[in-house]
Amino acid sequence: MKKISLVIPCYNEQESLPLFDAEMDKVIKSMSEYSFEIIYVNDGSKDNTLKCIKELYKKRTYVRFISFSRNFGKEAAMYAGFKNVTGDFVAIMDADLQDPPSLLPDMIRIMESGEYDSVATRRVSRDGEPPIRSFFARMFYKIINKISDADIVDGARDYRLMKREMVNVIVEMGERNRFSKGIFGWIGYKTYWYEYKNVERIAGETKWSFWKLFKYSIEGIVSFSQVPLSISSWLGMICTGVAFLAIIFIIIRKIIMGDPVQGWASTICLIMFIGGIQLFCMGIMGQYIGKTYVESKGRPHYIASEGSDEDIIKVG
Ligand code: UDP
Ligand code: MG
Repeated sequence: MKKISLVIPCYNEQESLPLFDAEMDKVIKSMSEYSFEIIYVNDGSKDNTLKCIKELYKKRTYVRFISFSRNFGKEAAMYAGFKNVTGDFVAIMDADLQDPPSLLPDMIRIMESGEYDSVATRRVSRDGEPPIRSFFARMFYKIINKISDADIVDGARDYRLMKREMVNVIVEMGERNRFSKGIFGWIGYKTYWYEYKNVERIAGETKWSFWKLFKYSIEGIVSFSQVPLSISSWLGMICTGVAFLAIIFIIIRKIIMGDPVQGWASTICLIMFIGGIQLFCMGIMGQYIGKTYVESKGRPHYIASEGSDEDIIKVG
């Protein structure tokens, strides 16, 4: 009998969890030809999420859980889940039912055809999302696909079903600055894109503020592209070229017209402009150096204070 593992990152999901469990249990009961394992990862929730999870653990034989010592972020939660799965197929899913469990049987069927290594989902509409957020999301996907070799699909959700080998490869990629959408695209493998209409979150609210998303997008770009670094050297070269031409111009003007004291304002403008570009470029470099610093410390991705069983890896 094949085993399917589901990884569910949860941060303040006390309202969604009972609804998720009910929905998921129906799906699991309808697929008796498979055995299941659900790993709930409590990402340092501040509400009663852990209590909810423990209740589910008592109630359902297929539930396991791991609870972080603080909030480490969804990426760390996914990583912890992947590290602990034991199934043949592994799915990652949100707790808020935005990733409909009802798609799972179909996704498993596609996997069983043997043609694909993973079935990923993509929403074809962004209904229910603020327009400004959709706009920036679209721009982000356009930019990152131009400047990196990870194939990142617009509208792709993290919701996907993968073969165990693929998950093992993802765990092997031990980078601390994790941007899963990029990692999934970067490792390749044959992926089937399953399209569905956006579903709104069932209860509670989104954990992603605009600022958090903005920082995550910078993370994505810095993790998967070095183009910003070359942009800064190009900018430097262009500025040097322009300055060189300006010097020649000034020398010629001095020879022809003498040296009237003029151009104080334009000098200040130029100093400000070039200073600004320098700071901007240093900022870009700083981003990369900062990431290198974090990687070089080699700290764990997560620290768990509790888990459902002996085998759960508590620090990883
Ligand atoms: N999540 C998490 N840690 C965080 C933020 C979110 O584990 O720091 C989980 C959250 O509980 C949910 C999933 O990640 O299961 C997606 O979060 P959310 O629904 O807020 O994101 P959205 O669907 O709005 O992109
Ligand atoms: Mg959601």
